[in-house]
Amino acid sequence: MSEPEGPRRLDLLLSGPEPDPAGDAGHQEHPPRMGFFTDTSVCIGCKACEVACKEWNAIPEDGLSLTGMSYDNTGGLGASTWRHVAFIEQSRPVAPETAAPPEALVAPAAPEPPAGPPSPDGRTELRWLMSSDVCKHCTHAACLDVCPTGSLFRTEFGTVVVQEDICNGCGYCVPACPYGVIEQRPEDGRAFKCTMCYDRLGDGMEPACAKACPTESIQFGPLDELRERAALRVDQLHDAGVPEAHLYGHDPEDGVGGDGAFFLLLDRPEVYGLPPDPVVTTRDLPRMWRRAGGAALGILGAAAIAFAPLGKAKR
Ligand code: SF4
Ligand code: SF4
Repeated sequence: MSEPEGPRRLDLLLSGPEPDPAGDAGHQEHPPRMGFFTDTSVCIGCKACEVACKEWNAIPEDGLSLTGMSYDNTGGLGASTWRHVAFIEQSRPVAPETAAPPEALVAPAAPEPPAGPPSPDGRTELRWLMSSDVCKHCTHAACLDVCPTGSLFRTEFGTVVVQEDICNGCGYCVPACPYGVIEQRPEDGRAFKCTMCYDRLGDGMEPACAKACPTESIQFGPLDELRERAALRVDQLHDAGVPEAHLYGHDPEDGVGGDGAFFLLLDRPEVYGLPPDPVVTTRDLPRMWRRAGGAALGILGAAAIAFAPLGKAKR
């Protein structure tokens, strides 16, 4: 297949499938792309990942109060919360026959199961959805694209890391992230997020959160292997009568070219606070530049035509 050229090539640099982000970033010889597969169906909400992350990375505390809604005390990802375990409480129908038919529950736009009748004593069943969220280490990472200092960079493992000693606190990366992951610390404005434990990876160790997870809800490894494993797990859950199980962030054809950290979810992404259809925010920049360039040329042309008679009159 011939290489795309010109404007099309520029578009593909900022969006679309990208089989080798590390190579594209200049790492000529590099290990396979590493990533996270978070299987939320086995998360028990113990928060061992949050604690291990804080401990290994020496992250300051981020408030010790509960949200008042659940056992969640951190609320979301932030400069001092690089892993966040969401607790979502749901009322579910009691009778199994009230569940939606399997063909209506395929990802990612799975409709809500219809609310079933309560049990004879008026109860409905309750379930907790627990999910450990993290930076997605996007294939096309807008945070990195907009960083003017090179503080954010693509590692040889294909992950995205921010260097706190180079960050100048401009904050451009914050609105660029389609997931709302990266955040500045109020004290000095510098941005922080998960590094996928770059220092541990360099020493051949797995990230602290994956190491601490007692149920293997957080799995770490070569991204290609994780994608295969995740597809098998979805089949297994479907066969076991969990038709709503589906993957999120695994598809290289999605709006960010696929995530380096993807998830198995049991409900719609919005339920977990994830955007249903994320798009790299720099995707439209080449088209905008082309249009701005066209408009500037048009204005110059119009000005030249308008002032041409004046030039002739002076002569
Ligand atoms: S999730 Fe946000 S912070 Fe993480 S790599 Fe993607 S754009 Fe950057
Ligand atoms: S990979 Fe490391 S930095 Fe990222 S969430 Fe896990 S423990 Fe924290």
